[in-house]
Amino acid sequence: MTASPPLDCRDQVLIIGAGAVGLACALALLQAGVPVTVLDRGRAGGATSHGNCGTITPSHAPPLAEPGMVWQLLRWMRQPDAPFYLKPRWDPALAGWLLRALRRCNRRDFEATTAIRAELLLASRHLLQQWIQDHDIDCGFQSRGSLYLHRDRAALAAGGGHAALLERAGIQVERLDGDQVRALEPAVNDQVIGGWLYPQDAHLRPDRLVAGLLDRVRAAGGTVIEDCPVAGLLHERGRITGVRLADGQVCRAGKVLLATASWTPALVRELGLRLPVQPGKGYSLTYDRPARAPRIPLVLAECQVCVTAWADGYRLGSTMEFSGFDDGLNPVRLDALKRGARLYLHEPEGPVLREQWSGWRPMVPDDLPVIGPVSRHPGLWLATGHGMLGISLSAITGQLLADLVTGREPVVNPAPFSPARF
Ligand SMILES: Cc1cc2nc3c(=O)[nH]c(=O)nc-3n(C[C@H](O)[C@H](O)[C@H](O)COP(=O)(O)OP(=O)(O)OC[C@H]3O[C@@H](n4cnc5c(N)ncnc54)[C@H](O)[C@@H]3O)c2cc1C
Repeated sequence: MTASPPLDCRDQVLIIGAGAVGLACALALLQAGVPVTVLDRGRAGGATSHGNCGTITPSHAPPLAEPGMVWQLLRWMRQPDAPFYLKPRWDPALAGWLLRALRRCNRRDFEATTAIRAELLLASRHLLQQWIQDHDIDCGFQSRGSLYLHRDRAALAAGGGHAALLERAGIQVERLDGDQVRALEPAVNDQVIGGWLYPQDAHLRPDRLVAGLLDRVRAAGGTVIEDCPVAGLLHERGRITGVRLADGQVCRAGKVLLATASWTPALVRELGLRLPVQPGKGYSLTYDRPARAPRIPLVLAECQVCVTAWADGYRLGSTMEFSGFDDGLNPVRLDALKRGARLYLHEPEGPVLREQWSGWRPMVPDDLPVIGPVSRHPGLWLATGHGMLGISLSAITGQLLADLVTGREPVVNPAPFSPARF
């Protein structure tokens, strides 16, 4: 352990997990006058919050479970380099998760979830920008929107369905033809026939956001201890009173907040809770910035590759693999990122490859984060299940959590995110 954790946090919120979500909760709690200690089993920001694409995307309001998705998934299952992969195996928790998600592939759930996510994403995008300004966090935040690109005419036209739904939810969308796309973004080649511009989207460098949050949490008086694995929860007659550390010590706490992403189900299992969070593995490749890097983050729609460029780097990221916590780097998936980028961009790769990475998105079947108290276990709080949106939703998660802990008027309606729905 790098430093010993305080063993008495009874006047504090003890946060487990120092990713973007745990640190955003820590900062918001400190701002609300609540002392915090954060424990992470590794390096702060060293897990899923490290190598993701860093896009802040109200445009991602539509959930993955949409009408017709079942057929799309079946098509992708037959394609070795598809953006979706399900490792065939006997796993009752995963089977139950898939059934729940597939049941939501209907218009009513799809539209209702889009509206809820749109409100949350828009609120978070504005709050995050405010935090970055107020706390002077140097993470390359840019409000340039994002551009979804198409090479296929039918897919471009189909994107219009999402666009109309998003506009109804308050998210601006502009349709562009191929020439308009290239005028806006000269990095795009002439195979692209059109796209959708989402001007309210933004982007940042996620590792630097997390480093900035960590710094501001410590400056505000929070304690963050790295290399400190938590083995389980301390409970007395259902009430959570602290955690057991992997080295055998116990740390008592007034409240315990699990911001442990895909690893949360393992920590709550001993309480008899079956939290449906599955690891959805994604990959990224990070390069030095190519000469013709895009100014605006791109989603290469037909292959689902996301391209983000910063002043000091360039990243291709994608894929959703349900293969448990398999941490291998599958070369077929990594190549798929490069192949996808070659189809849309003049200069698909940067001059030097700096990092090949994979991370596990904490996926929940209804695609809504889990934020709030666990009513059956007083003292236990959750902030998990942010799926593909944990960077985008970090600020609003922190704010909502702090509102609920302190009994303030919540910044958004907390009901859709309540752990009680499972
Ligand atoms: C390829 C890819 C691209 C993505 N792109 C985007 C994007 O563009 N925009 C966006 O908004 N989101 C994106 N995401 C999703 C985003 O990365 C996640 O939603 C987000 O990082 C989750 O943050 P977190 O803090 O919940 O999890 P994490 O960053 O994983 O943090 C959880 C922490 O808990 C700690 N922990 C777990 N168990 C224990 C334990 N027992 N004891 C102590 N500590 C423990 C871990 O060490 C870890 O540091 C992407 C994800 C991937 C994989």
